[in-house]
Amino acid sequence: MLRLITDFDGPVMDVSERYYRVYRYCLERLSTPDGPPLRVLSKAEFWDCKRAQVPEREIGQLSGLDEARSLEFARLRRETVHTLPYLVHDGPVPGAVAALERAQALGWDLVVMTMRRVRELDDAFNRHDLGRFFPAAGRYCLADDYVKTRDVEDKPKLMARAIGELSPAAATWMVGDTEADIAAARAGGIPIISVLSGIRNRDRLAAHQPDAIVDNLDAAIDFILARRAVAGGLPQTVSSPVQPLQSSVG
Ligand SMILES: [Mg+2]
Repeated sequence: MLRLITDFDGPVMDVSERYYRVYRYCLERLSTPDGPPLRVLSKAEFWDCKRAQVPEREIGQLSGLDEARSLEFARLRRETVHTLPYLVHDGPVPGAVAALERAQALGWDLVVMTMRRVRELDDAFNRHDLGRFFPAAGRYCLADDYVKTRDVEDKPKLMARAIGELSPAAATWMVGDTEADIAAARAGGIPIISVLSGIRNRDRLAAHQPDAIVDNLDAAIDFILARRAVAGGLPQTVSSPVQPLQSSVG
């Protein structure tokens, strides 16, 4: 059995509309009638900034806020972006549901690993009928009261838990859209495919050297199938570039 551990936001869900609406809201809150004129970024400009990992306070400054207000903008943004009233603006990435159906039809074991909290994940599952892909034992997310640190530190912890709990699999792959997914996969000794359908561009992902960078979840499935076909045709003495999950499963 092959196991596919997928991140949620980026490979499956498109959060760009939510993030952009929160940006507009925070900018509006921080604007003053006597301050300098704001320059509201278009959604495309804003999302390009996010994908290039431009810090929030810098996005504030690009939008015309002074330094102090940019810091306040970043703080307000942080406390607003994951709130339920904005989560309704998320939607599945085009083609992602079909890709999950394809993986399911291939008989793969699907696991979701996300920095969402339980209530945030459940909300999306219910709203978009996505829970059908991930049995209860294959859902790794944060408790509602979890105190977050940084994704690149929190996600490997989630991975460590998964490795301790999941049943053994013949091979395991991970798909994600950020450096946190790459860090988590590395910590678990699992090959990682980065997708461009999320919140990082190719340059940012390449800097962290994932095993592959592809357009989306469906292309990641193609990549795994192709790699397995090659590995299956190799003689035993030739080591495959694929590192299956072995001793690391509980
Ligand atoms: Mg993500």
